[in-house]
Amino acid sequence: VSHIAEEYYIAIDLGATKTRIALCDKNGIIEKTVYYTPRQGNEYTIAESIHSKIVSMWGNKVDKIKALGIATIGPLDIKEGRVVRPANVPIRSFELLKPLVKTLKKPVYVVNDCVAAAWGEKYYGDAVNYENFIYLTLSTGVGAGVVVDGNLLIGKMGNAHEVGHIVVDFTSDLQCGCGGRGHWEVFAGGANVNKVLRYLVEKNSLNAYSELKEKVLSGEQIDARKLFEYYRNGDPLAKKAVDIYIEATAAGIASIINVYDPELITIGGSVFLNNVDILYEPIVSRVKTNTITQPPIIKPTRLGDDVGLYGALAIAVHTPRKIAEIQGKMISRIIGEA
Ligand SMILES: [Zn+2]
Repeated sequence: VSHIAEEYYIAIDLGATKTRIALCDKNGIIEKTVYYTPRQGNEYTIAESIHSKIVSMWGNKVDKIKALGIATIGPLDIKEGRVVRPANVPIRSFELLKPLVKTLKKPVYVVNDCVAAAWGEKYYGDAVNYENFIYLTLSTGVGAGVVVDGNLLIGKMGNAHEVGHIVVDFTSDLQCGCGGRGHWEVFAGGANVNKVLRYLVEKNSLNAYSELKEKVLSGEQIDARKLFEYYRNGDPLAKKAVDIYIEATAAGIASIINVYDPELITIGGSVFLNNVDILYEPIVSRVKTNTITQPPIIKPTRLGDDVGLYGALAIAVHTPRKIAEIQGKMISRIIGEA
């Protein structure tokens, strides 16, 4: 890296499948690396993988690192800076804040990935000039980070981002991964595509021939990527499932607009970003019919796949007051002991 900065920051976007790590200065990303998140090991394996990646890539700069930000999958125990029983990683729970502060002797702030992404929009994305905005992710799951009157919402347990569990159809018997029924995420989470398709086939709500229906009946697992492929090829079952996706997402977005009154909503997440041409216009036009406040600007995030990294960077450089309150004391204590 030829870039010379006085102070560096490390941004980490910890996903269920991949971990992205970037060397940054306060203005943005300088260099980044991506690797597969460890799927086996103990509660320290993931923190150790992050530590060894940082040391091997940027070992000569560790002294000049000012702070680290981690945007992680949840659920988060925000006080301890650890992840507890994540849905899609086989390691039952793992520590992030404590082992990394101990080995690097730097502040490490750990925040849910959607919450961090919203903060990233404020400093590096489209929300620079806004005090009221929402970052929404439409990916394997559905989640959001919310800023109201300039404050990043955290909640009593750090779970103020779980908008995917808003009930969009209380008469539905489709069960969400969380156990609830009719949640936004059951209709629009990439992980639930197969469930929705099976439901539609079992309800026998389709008369026309559908190749996708044959696949579902044969027991093939259909993911979001395949669903949208079938949609693009004109498959009628795919059309039904995508229509449901759009209706549920419009209902969910209308609900968060009515609750938080944002000026701006940016949308990221692989399912949305890969299918903006199919999803954007119908979702935005349906949202308006269910909102009581003036509708906000809605647009795809321009930070793309890096929105989590920018979020983590924003958390490290411009640490939200509430996060500094919750995690700052423990960080000082561990650095003091080291
Ligand atoms: Zn749910």
